[in-house]
Amino acid sequence: MAVLVASMESLFTPLMSGDQFRYAYNNVAAHSHQHVVAGHTSCLDSDVEDDDDLTEDLVQAWKWSIGAKRHGCKHYRRRCKIRAPCCNEIFDCRHCHNDAKNINEKDDKKRHEIDRHLVEKVICSLCEHEQNVQQVCENCGVCMGEFFCDKCKFFDDDTSKQQYHCDKCGICRTGGRENFFHCDRCGCCYSTQLREGHTCVEKSMHQDCPVCMEYLFDSLLDITVLPCGHTLHLECLQDMHKHFQYNCPLCNKSVCDMSSVWKQIDQEIEATQMPEDQNRMVWILCNDCGSTSEVQYHIVGQKCASCPSYNTRLTEIPNSLSS
Ligand SMILES: [Zn+2]
Ligand SMILES: [Zn+2]
Ligand SMILES: [Zn+2]
Ligand SMILES: [Zn+2]
Ligand SMILES: [Zn+2]
Ligand SMILES: [Zn+2]
Ligand SMILES: [Zn+2]
Ligand SMILES: [Zn+2]
Repeated sequence: MAVLVASMESLFTPLMSGDQFRYAYNNVAAHSHQHVVAGHTSCLDSDVEDDDDLTEDLVQAWKWSIGAKRHGCKHYRRRCKIRAPCCNEIFDCRHCHNDAKNINEKDDKKRHEIDRHLVEKVICSLCEHEQNVQQVCENCGVCMGEFFCDKCKFFDDDTSKQQYHCDKCGICRTGGRENFFHCDRCGCCYSTQLREGHTCVEKSMHQDCPVCMEYLFDSLLDITVLPCGHTLHLECLQDMHKHFQYNCPLCNKSVCDMSSVWKQIDQEIEATQMPEDQNRMVWILCNDCGSTSEVQYHIVGQKCASCPSYNTRLTEIPNSLSS
């Protein structure tokens, strides 16, 4: 959980009202995709086709769409179930499998997660025919998922999530391919708004959320990237804010642009007379720029000598100077 310098917390509390903070966070992951069933949209416009072909196409289109959005589980709308390659049992989706076989499994020895890429068999929800993974049921002709990813063996009838498969992530993501780019260094798909200006942290998405400890890379929750490049759930960040924590739990840097707050503290310090007997110098380490400086102690806060930040903590006199 976040480490906040004690003096910072009392310092920020009265200052948090109003709209001083504009968060530049961008949701990273999620779950959706676009999709389209190729080949059914233009058949009505064509006058070269004869009536039989037209009827045939309409029948195909009708079969294809039977039961759309009416089947599935609490995780996905889809028209098939999967046979788990690990335990050979049938589940609505991989999350249903993991809920049953990992989260709620009492026996430690039996606890396991599914590898989505290894799924080979699906069972059509309309005709119950078991078959190899494919988009259209070979028995009844229904489309088992309007979005279909052959690599992830993933089906979803709700295409409003704008699902897409990222080859570099190796999994399907949501939010629309055009809105994201894959950062090789961070190892994940980030919003195109971050393309120019984010701090890359090697494999930053391949670790646990520092607040709730869930593995971030394939989390279904919204994830945000801090200015320091560290990542966490958006919800977890909002929780931190509720507790007046504005430092990255991993590196202590400020999690948003605090310049307006620093200015207010400047003014407050100017207006607050320190008692004569408290007039002393202290050494501080700046969490934002990393520099160490010797400054006048003030009850409101210690401002870094190298940058405008008050996100500082008291420290020892540097070794190079103490001897
Ligand atoms: Zn299993
Ligand atoms: Zn079927
Ligand atoms: Zn995929
Ligand atoms: Zn990616
Ligand atoms: Zn990056
Ligand atoms: Zn979290
Ligand atoms: Zn950080
Ligand atoms: Zn500084």
